[in-house]
Amino acid sequence: MSRLLFVLNPGRRGAHCASAKPRRDELRSSADAQCAPLRILLFAFLLFTSFIFPPFALAQGVEPVIRVGLAYGEGSLAVANLQNLDGYGIGYRLGYFSDIGEFFELARTSSYKISMRAGNNSSTIVVSDTDTGAYIFEFEGNLAILPSLGEVPRPVTWFRGFHYAGGFEYRRRGNNVTVINVVGMEDYVKGVVPYEIGGGVHIEAQKAQALCARSYAHSNRRKHSTFGFDVCATIDCQVYQGTKFETDSSNAAVEMTRGQYVFWSDNVAQTYYHSSNGGSTEDVTNIWVTDLPYLRAVRDNFEDLSTSSNGRWTYTLTNEMLTYILNGKGHENSGIISMTAEYTAAGNILALNFTDSSGKTFRFEKERARSILSSATYDVSIYSQRFTVNTGQMVSLESSSGVTVRSDLENITILGAWGQTANVSLSTGILGGDGTISPIPQAQSNGTYVITGTGWGHNVGMSQNGAKAMANLGYTYVDIIQYYFRDVYVGYL
Ligand SMILES: [Zn+2]
Repeated sequence: MSRLLFVLNPGRRGAHCASAKPRRDELRSSADAQCAPLRILLFAFLLFTSFIFPPFALAQGVEPVIRVGLAYGEGSLAVANLQNLDGYGIGYRLGYFSDIGEFFELARTSSYKISMRAGNNSSTIVVSDTDTGAYIFEFEGNLAILPSLGEVPRPVTWFRGFHYAGGFEYRRRGNNVTVINVVGMEDYVKGVVPYEIGGGVHIEAQKAQALCARSYAHSNRRKHSTFGFDVCATIDCQVYQGTKFETDSSNAAVEMTRGQYVFWSDNVAQTYYHSSNGGSTEDVTNIWVTDLPYLRAVRDNFEDLSTSSNGRWTYTLTNEMLTYILNGKGHENSGIISMTAEYTAAGNILALNFTDSSGKTFRFEKERARSILSSATYDVSIYSQRFTVNTGQMVSLESSSGVTVRSDLENITILGAWGQTANVSLSTGILGGDGTISPIPQAQSNGTYVITGTGWGHNVGMSQNGAKAMANLGYTYVDIIQYYFRDVYVGYL
């Protein structure tokens, strides 16, 4: 990373020195007699006295630093603003972060509203005063900004209406900038817990959530490395919006578990979690790819689906709808005539198989078995991996004594050799007159399919709904963690 200081004016008071924003060549040949001495002085000052702050290590000992992407990719910004107010820390330090989060200070400004945008040079970022437009600083490379020139215990900075602890990093992306919050792990977790599980639920559930959030962040440090940060601030990683929704309770849950992580075999675990699983979690290998021994199906005896968002849901789909959905997702077909489901040992969906009128087959496994059915056109959201597919198909059976029954495949009526009947579940198969069980006939054309599901999420790891229920029953956060993650323990890095 190149770190070339171009020019600076320290805050709004220096605005008169930057009537035009000087570029690199202008700085060296500036004829601005009024400002040149100040620039030379400042440049010399910075050459010999660059400050080095290990900002978070300074305050928190060995607390790790995490980089959270706030605006990036398509969402990167032409102009990124920051704001702070007295009492939360006035002014900013400007410089750059080392790879381990040490801050190297190159300049300061007392402005409390500043704007960052791409410089004219292809790799520079310019800082200016938001209100006056006064030029403050230009930096080649990834610009870092720490809030507060004063002694404020926990300075907080406004970005897009949300308040963030820690500092910020700006990276060029074309003519825009990527915005990253560089924050101590504990402040980060304080910004996740209230969004992910709620700052008003039982403290033990919040503590379990804090451990999951902290361990997840640690285990996914490189997830968004192509953009220059560790984790994003959305449901893709963990919802994080700074300090806005912190409560005394959620902050207490983080402090009471400060520095604690979930371990499996001396490594920090991948602590996935979801809103609710609808009755059972699932082996991670049946949802995604990699098998992890602590992410195995757990029968959930605690969830209360009546209190859960999207706890129970149902849709009716037809072959015509499936034809449209698959074609719309690039799976060209001549008209779907059947859909059948396969289930895991825990009773969650493992695969969906489709056949079209030409005999072409389509198979979607694991997470794709869920996502393939979702459709904005038909307003279908398959909320979890726990659902059943029942056909509206009727089947006729005839006994050797000549008695016949017609049965819905959703609710099979079996027929004995002498005409006796009984109901069995879909998975049982059909009992023949000779006592043997044969597979249920597959649905054919013109079928409709009733999708009946429970739960909301990917079914891997901890259920937030179940964690809340366990906490209310008196279980501790360690009990909760060890219920959902097999053979793990809680410890420190
Ligand atoms: Zn993410």
